[in-house]
Amino acid sequence: MKISLIAHDRKKNDLIQFVTAYKQIFAQHELYATGTTGLKIMEATGLNIHRFQSGPLGGDQEIGALIAKNEMDVIFFFRDPLTAQPHEPDVTALVRLCDVYAIPLATNMGTAEILVQGIRRGDMHWREIIHEQTKKDEENL
Ligand code: PGA
Repeated sequence: MKISLIAHDRKKNDLIQFVTAYKQIFAQHELYATGTTGLKIMEATGLNIHRFQSGPLGGDQEIGALIAKNEMDVIFFFRDPLTAQPHEPDVTALVRLCDVYAIPLATNMGTAEILVQGIRRGDMHWREIIHEQTKKDEENL
C-alpha cells in the first residue's frame, strides 16, 4: 500500500517516534512524505521514502494530487493545532480530498495507533480491491 507521512514542525518528533516504533510495518509498504518530514524520518529509521516538496512549498498538494488519482491509500498527517501554518489552505484541501475519496487519515497519535494496527491486520485490504477495479475500468475504456 502507498502510505504518506506528513508532520508539522512541532509534531515531527512525534511522527519520527511513531514510525520508529512501527518500523517493521511501515517497511512493508511504499512510503511517501513531504520534504522535511521525509528526510527526518529517513535519517532516523533508514526507511526508504519518496519525498515530495516541503509542505509550505506544495508538498501537501502533490500528495493531494495522488489522492485525486486514487494512488494514495493511507495518510498519517500529524498536524499542529496550536500554530498558524502559512499553507493552511493546502492542509485543508488535503484533508478534504481524504474525505472525498474515503482515504483513511490519522491527524494525531491516538488515531494513528488504531490505523497502524488496522494496516497490520489487513483492514485496508479494500484499497487493493479498488486499485484492481480501477485498473479493469481503465482497460475497458
Ligand atoms: P515538511 O512539510 O515535511 O516539508 O516540513 C510538512 C507540512 O508542513 O505540511
